[in-house]
Amino acid sequence: MDPYMRAAVEEARKGLREGGIPIGAVLVLDGRIVGRGHNRRVQKGSPILHAEMDALENAGRLSPQEYQRAVLYTTLSPCEMCSGAALLYKIPRVVIGEHRTFCGAEDHLRRRGVELEVLDDPECVQLMQEFIRSRPELWYEDIGEPEPGSQEDPAALLSRAWSRC
Ligand SMILES: [Zn+2]
Repeated sequence: MDPYMRAAVEEARKGLREGGIPIGAVLVLDGRIVGRGHNRRVQKGSPILHAEMDALENAGRLSPQEYQRAVLYTTLSPCEMCSGAALLYKIPRVVIGEHRTFCGAEDHLRRRGVELEVLDDPECVQLMQEFIRSRPELWYEDIGEPEPGSQEDPAALLSRAWSRC
């Protein structure tokens, strides 16, 4: 696996061990990881600490020129909030572990000239799918969707509109 995506997956696993949602991200500048993070919605009671936001936060203040050379790695397709942060700072490239589980604002990013690479990594897929099966309520909360009835087939959850790219 790409070493930067490997680092993002390690972050996702750290989040899982903490009882959180297993999504990780790293910000890479000139070949070096300058910020790493994972979804800490549960751990911090935070509605905004998605993995990408946490990685940006932990990178601290970078100059506009630095953001414009940076690459954001994330284990899961970035949502509208995280895509918005990438656009705000004009991060030119985003590498995505998978977008089978959830399709974020990829079209929007592409239209705005951001280069996307989707690795379709089986480990990233497995992390999310196992998590959604075991803690569906946390997943729905994270993407701002009401949880469907408990009688809904878990397999059907993964074919809903938000899961299609
Ligand atoms: Zn997000």
